[in-house]
Amino acid sequence: MEKKDGRVFIELEWICPNCDSRNKGSRKTCENCGAAQPDNVKFQRAADEKVVADEKSIEAAKAGADIHCGFCGTRNPATATTCSQCGGDLKEGKKREAGQVLKAAPPPPKSLTCANCGTENPGTAAACKQCGVPLKQAAAAPAPAKTAAAPARKVNPWFLGGIGALLLFCCVAAIFWFVLPSKSVKGTVTDLYWQTTTAVQEVQPVNYSNERGSAPSGAYNVSCHTESEEVCEEKTVDQGNGYAEVVQECHTESEQYCDYTLDEWTTIQSYDLSGSDNYPVYEEPNITSDQRVGNTVNTLTVTFSTSDGQKEYTPDSAAEFQQFEIGSVWTLKMNRAGGILSVEP
Ligand SMILES: [Zn+2]
Ligand SMILES: [Zn+2]
Ligand SMILES: [Zn+2]
Repeated sequence: MEKKDGRVFIELEWICPNCDSRNKGSRKTCENCGAAQPDNVKFQRAADEKVVADEKSIEAAKAGADIHCGFCGTRNPATATTCSQCGGDLKEGKKREAGQVLKAAPPPPKSLTCANCGTENPGTAAACKQCGVPLKQAAAAPAPAKTAAAPARKVNPWFLGGIGALLLFCCVAAIFWFVLPSKSVKGTVTDLYWQTTTAVQEVQPVNYSNERGSAPSGAYNVSCHTESEEVCEEKTVDQGNGYAEVVQECHTESEQYCDYTLDEWTTIQSYDLSGSDNYPVYEEPNITSDQRVGNTVNTLTVTFSTSDGQKEYTPDSAAEFQQFEIGSVWTLKMNRAGGILSVEP
């Protein structure tokens, strides 16, 4: 990028509302039909925008927002005092809006066909390279967007409707298969299985490193550092005169990272027990005064023999598990997928 005193400008463009021709931002009247740019026709970014390099354009870009003559509407540079068209005093004029951040132009079409002579032109061309006739904006940037969006808009409701219907169907099917009971069968308890784990824990120092944020309370051997990063964003700002300034907006983002040690209850050993009766028990290891024991149930399984074959059921609690004595008979509510929904006496 070429820079003059640090400021970078690009030339914008505007679309003639009279004939749809694309015009360079610096032009105050349409290159094709001669119509003046009205004050409500906004500048936009060109698909093939370039950094402005010549001194005259840079001066024009720096001059500030143009003024539309209050008498005839003609666009005049900010430096003018009287209208170039009618000679009217520009104190009565209307300054163009400036300062808006402009979005990049949509990607141009691969090529543009001249309506006049049929020549294929590059997608960014403003005028036909063969006959010089302006290539209508309607056939340039917005048009492919329209043609691309239009079928999508037509398809979308159906497509979305289709997805909606499919989701609804899946929900209904899932409820039908997995939630609604389909039948009840008698089941006899043939097998029981449980497994428990007993963990012996001790307070031990645990090291943490490079943890984002500040150290928690109770931490020791704390050492923190801050990492800063400059985050920059490029913005293209309308100058109101056919040019835009490209500015870098930067700010610093900082984040703290810490190394520290925390004393935490840590499992130093665990014991598993399992059995095939109704009463899950836990290992009772000998512990020292600075140790503790944590108990967890890992598995509770009841196996029923039914006319549909063997069914496995997982009770919610040890209390529920204790009801299922070997040989007792229960009513099993089944779903269509063959799973047990509930078990009743
Ligand atoms: Zn025109
Ligand atoms: Zn005028
Ligand atoms: Zn042509």
